[in-house]
Amino acid sequence: MSTSFPMPYSIRHSRRAKHLRLVAKPEGIELVVPPTVSESRALAFLQKHRGWAERKLAEMRSVTPESRPKRGLQNGATLPFQGREVPLVVREHAGRRTYIRYDGHFLLSIPAGASENQDHLALKALFAWTRLWLRDEARSIAERHAPRFGLYPRQIRVKRMTSRWGSCGPMNDINLNWLLAFAPPSVLEYVVVHELCHIRHRNHSFDFWALVAHHMPDYSSERQWLRLNGATLLRRFE
Ligand SMILES: [Zn+2]
Repeated sequence: MSTSFPMPYSIRHSRRAKHLRLVAKPEGIELVVPPTVSESRALAFLQKHRGWAERKLAEMRSVTPESRPKRGLQNGATLPFQGREVPLVVREHAGRRTYIRYDGHFLLSIPAGASENQDHLALKALFAWTRLWLRDEARSIAERHAPRFGLYPRQIRVKRMTSRWGSCGPMNDINLNWLLAFAPPSVLEYVVVHELCHIRHRNHSFDFWALVAHHMPDYSSERQWLRLNGATLLRRFE
C-alpha cells in the first residue's frame, strides 16, 4: 500500500481489467486500473467513491483490528515518508539524546527510562530531522525550477504549520509545512513551484496558474492529492 491517508490506497495496473474498480482490503483500498485509464482519472474515481470506500474500510477494520496501521511513533509503526509507508524502529539507548536516523527505515533512539513522554520526544526528534531533510530537498527543487523564469527565493524555511502547505512572503521568503515530507515527492514539488510562482504573481490569477503549468503541466493531480489527503495529513501527528 503506497500511502495511508486519509485512507490507505494502492494502485494496481491490470492489463485484464475492463473497468476501474475499487477493492476494499484490510490494509487499504486497492484501485484496479485498466490500461486505458490514467492514474489521475483513477484518483478522481476514488475521490468520487470515497464515501463508499471509507465505509468499506471501516467495516474491514472492525473485523480485523490487528491489521490497522499504527498511527503513533511507537516501535512497529510506519511513517508515510515521501508518500510511502516506511517502518519505524524505536530503541532505547544509554545516551541522553533522542534522535532519528533514516536508512530506508526510521530508527528512533530514545534515552532508556526517559521521564518525558516518549511520544513527545519522538515527535520533536522527527521534526528536527525532517526540517533539515525537507529544506535540502526543497532547495534542490527550487534550484531546478528557479532559472527558467528567474524565480529565486531569498530563503526557504520549514516550519510546523497547522493549516497551510506553504507561503511566500513579500521579500520572497518561502515557508513550507514540514508535513510535506510525508506527501508524495511530486506534491512537495508542486507546493515549492506554487510558492516560487508567487514571486512573480502575488495572487491566484490566470497568469499565476499559467506560470505554474509552465513548470508542472500536470499539477492538477498534485492539487487533487492535497484536496483528497491534505486534511488528514495535517492531523497526522496530533
Ligand atoms: Zn498560492
